[in-house]
Amino acid sequence: MHISRAGRRPPPGRIAYVDGRYIRHGAAGVHVEDRGLQFADSVYEVIAVSNARLVDAAPHILRLEKSLSSIGMAMPVCPASLAVILNETARRNQLREGLLYLQITRGAAPRAHAAPDDTSPTVIVTAKRMDASLMETRRAAGVAVMTTADIRWARCDIKSTGLLPNVLAKTEARKQGADEAWFVDGDGFVTEGSSTNAWIVGGDGEPITRSLRDNILAGITRGVLLQALSDAGIAARERAFSVEEAYGAREAFISSATGGVIPVVKIDGKPVGSGAIGPVAKQMHALYCELSRKISMV
Ligand code: PMP
Repeated sequence: MHISRAGRRPPPGRIAYVDGRYIRHGAAGVHVEDRGLQFADSVYEVIAVSNARLVDAAPHILRLEKSLSSIGMAMPVCPASLAVILNETARRNQLREGLLYLQITRGAAPRAHAAPDDTSPTVIVTAKRMDASLMETRRAAGVAVMTTADIRWARCDIKSTGLLPNVLAKTEARKQGADEAWFVDGDGFVTEGSSTNAWIVGGDGEPITRSLRDNILAGITRGVLLQALSDAGIAARERAFSVEEAYGAREAFISSATGGVIPVVKIDGKPVGSGAIGPVAKQMHALYCELSRKISMV
C-alpha cells in the first residue's frame, strides 16, 4: 500500500484511512505480513463520488458483505459505520468527483496458507480525484476492446483483490491500443471485461449481458441499469453471447462504477455496427444515472 515512487507523489493533502486512523496518503501502509499482500486474502469495492456524493453506496456495501461472507469473514464494522468512514474519507480529501477504494483484508499473521481465525481485519480506504471530463470524452468517442481467454477462477462473483489475470489482460489491451479486455470462456462466450461488465445490443435493439449464474461479478452498475430498464419497461436479456455475436452486434457497451456506461466502438479491431456511438448506449447511460441519483437521495 505504501506508494511513494519518485515523480508519482500523491497530491498534497491526500488522506487515506487505515484501521481507524486518517493519515497522510504517502505515509499510509500495512504490515508486511498482511494477508492481503501475501495471499490476496482480501476483498474490495470501488465507489464513485459525483458532486461530492457517494454513488450507489448501499449496493456496494451489500456486495462487500457478500464477498466477505463468501471467504468466511464478517463485516469488521457495521454498514452504517462503513458509510461514515467512506464519507469522511471523501470529505477529508475534498473529493467532489472521483473514486473511493475500499479494501478489507483478513489481517496480518505469520505467513501460512490456512487462514487463522483470530486475525483482526485490515480496513483501507483511499481516495482518488478524477477529472469528470475524462470519462465524458470516452463516452463521446467510445472505446475499443480486445478479447482474450478467461483464465480466472470459478468464483468471479467474489470481488477479490486477486486480480492478476485482469491486470495482465488490461495491460495487453493497452499494448494493442484497446481500452478494455473482454474475457472469453472455453465455449467462445464473452464473460465480462477486466474491470467492467460487457453488453451488446441485439438485432431487435435489446441490451444483452451475461447472466450472474455464469461466473461473473455482479456489477453494481449492471444491476442498477437492469433495474432502470425494468422500471422503464424496456426489455433486456441476461444471457451469454459469443464473440461472433458481438462482432455482428448493433452496438456494444461496458458498465462500471468508474465510468457508468461507455460505448464500445471496436472489438478486436473490427467496428461495431456503423462504428459510431449508437443511441442505445447513450440511453443506457442516461437511464443508469437517473436511477442511481434517485437511489443516492434515500
Ligand atoms: N467486472 C469486473 C471484473 C470488475 O472488476 C468490475 C469493476 N469492479 C465490474 C465488472 C463492474 O462492476 P461495478 O459496476 O460494480 O463497478
